[in-house]
Amino acid sequence: MSDARNHDVPSGLTRHALHRWPKIELHRHLEGCVRFETAWHWAQRSPDLAGLDQDELRRRIEFDGVRDFTHFLNRFASLRQLYTCREAIEQVAWEAVEDAAAEHIRYLELRFSPDHFASYAGFDMETVTLWIVDAAAAAARLHNIRVRYLLTIARNYDEQTAAEILSIALRHRDRGIVGLDLAGNELLYPAVPFAALFARAREEGLGVTVHAGEAGPAASVWEAVEELGAHRIGHGIRCVDDVRLVHTLRERRIALEVCLTSNVQTGVVPSLLDHPLRRLVQAGVPLTLCSDDPRISRITLTDEWRNALDLGLSLEQIVGFTLQAVEHAFLTSAEKEELREALAREIRALPVNDPSR
Ligand SMILES: [Zn+2]
Repeated sequence: MSDARNHDVPSGLTRHALHRWPKIELHRHLEGCVRFETAWHWAQRSPDLAGLDQDELRRRIEFDGVRDFTHFLNRFASLRQLYTCREAIEQVAWEAVEDAAAEHIRYLELRFSPDHFASYAGFDMETVTLWIVDAAAAAARLHNIRVRYLLTIARNYDEQTAAEILSIALRHRDRGIVGLDLAGNELLYPAVPFAALFARAREEGLGVTVHAGEAGPAASVWEAVEELGAHRIGHGIRCVDDVRLVHTLRERRIALEVCLTSNVQTGVVPSLLDHPLRRLVQAGVPLTLCSDDPRISRITLTDEWRNALDLGLSLEQIVGFTLQAVEHAFLTSAEKEELREALAREIRALPVNDPSR
């Protein structure tokens, strides 16, 4: 923070200037990272997608203007149908990392559900997981970005699938799998049935993040905190409705992964200007800015920084979120220290007097 504060930040920062700042991304779904041209290519091999024209494919897999939570989640049902072969899965994983590096993201926690990529072709979830992490790791080495992985369990998964995903995570921690995520429709499926599974994940040293308080109420965030022991909350914005919850998140240092555009597109806030980001910041809730599903939403993390500025936050505050994200990353203390120093070095080296800033 102190490094950023030394800079005189002009108002009207362009997207171009923001693009150059080093970033951290803690909430990004591989499922939502598919470039359209890549989707189009592999759709030709999918029995369910091959007959579509480009406009129709786009309507199915990207935000189409309908601001509705369930409708947004339906994008994932179509995206699943892309994965008919190993090459498609590896390409998507590779490109997700390449895209993140191009946004100057220096540390990425990329999350995915093995079932999402495995089910259409009937692949084994563990095999698919290794295809993904190996392809992503190769891209990470090439593009000089640190990547870790969270495995996602959707709330509608049966007990056996959920247990298998945890086992895969535990068996392959040496490949950079550092956490478990609970996602899906919190309006239809409670988190409580997964309490024992997430307790085991925590005991084994995995980080735990839970999508809650997005379309659901503050009570859903309480459930994530009290029943699942979440270290971080995906979205969690409805905590603003509950003073005691805000206090608890602050006291326990549980960070919200805030995704502005996603919240508008899923209709959980009526518009960007209605987003409670500033109230959350004023209340002292730890948080970090994230992009959720950049290719579905057709945004980058840079766009989300711009949106935060439009909501009245300063660049210092946004850079502060980035440094705060280091604290909440599922990394060891030594790795965090190294990352913090690397970010500070890079921020110091940004050309202060560059007119493009
Ligand atoms: Zn998400």
